[in-house]
Amino acid sequence: MGLMIYLDGKFVDEEEAKVSVFDHGVLYGDGIFEGIRAYHGQVFKLKEHIERLYQGAQTILLDINETPDEMVRVVTETCRRNNLSDAYIRLVVTRGKGDLGLDPRKCPKSTTFCIASSITLYPEELYTNGLALATVATRRNIAEACNPRVKSLNYLNNIYAKIEANLADVGEGILLNNEGYVAEATGDNIFIVRKGVLITPPIYVGLLEGVTRNCVMELARKRGIEVKETLFTRMDMYTADECFLTGTAAEVIPAVKYDGRVIGTGKPGEITKTLIQDYRDYVKNAGDGAEI
Ligand code: PMP
Repeated sequence: MGLMIYLDGKFVDEEEAKVSVFDHGVLYGDGIFEGIRAYHGQVFKLKEHIERLYQGAQTILLDINETPDEMVRVVTETCRRNNLSDAYIRLVVTRGKGDLGLDPRKCPKSTTFCIASSITLYPEELYTNGLALATVATRRNIAEACNPRVKSLNYLNNIYAKIEANLADVGEGILLNNEGYVAEATGDNIFIVRKGVLITPPIYVGLLEGVTRNCVMELARKRGIEVKETLFTRMDMYTADECFLTGTAAEVIPAVKYDGRVIGTGKPGEITKTLIQDYRDYVKNAGDGAEI
């Protein structure tokens, strides 16, 4: 037996977990999702992920069949059914089955599924030595066209960027917004450190408001580190003392090179190392997640 998948009110074996070819999630990328982690029997920041999911649904006028409270139970129960206390969880809500036109009014019922699987961790070597980054030519979607704040199934913008990063043979690609300000990486938020101040781009630059981003800002403030949400450019990255990315899967990961320029000393900086450890300690002892 494979994984047990939650699909529209039932738990089914992964072999039977199928969505229709007429589902607008498949035909148009019309839907939303969350990537969530469980640590030591607790689903980390589940409330925040569910909140972001329902805010996305509200924005794209998507009716989710489950209430937020039911969705909490969907996620915890999916972990339980698969005997997972540490997991990577993918929660997806699509527009559901419709006709071949793109009109969502033709999709009477959305589709919800949840996958809980074991997590493939990034090699520890990347946390000790740091990633190389490069700016990609693809610009981040403008908010007025396809708002990056909505974690939609329409990830082609990010995939273009990932392809460019792969071709450039770097660990991650950095997307600028249409004005040339640094927005985020393909699947992670970005931070720099300048003269002891932690800086990350503001949400309005056009980015996904990461759960990890918000948590790391809080951890830094708790340490007395000044945190600013300010616009910055490629040059600010070239001349930064430190740089790192944040995301549910990667957690806090240092970056030491950007567009061929060495950042700071070329090694993960002191504030970065502190926050990597603080975040690891926090996820272990958070106690504010949802019990599996
Ligand atoms: N930006 C993008 C584009 C992402 O896909 C992700 C991953 N969900 C993030 C940032 C980081 O968000 P989080 O910390 O909530 O995982």
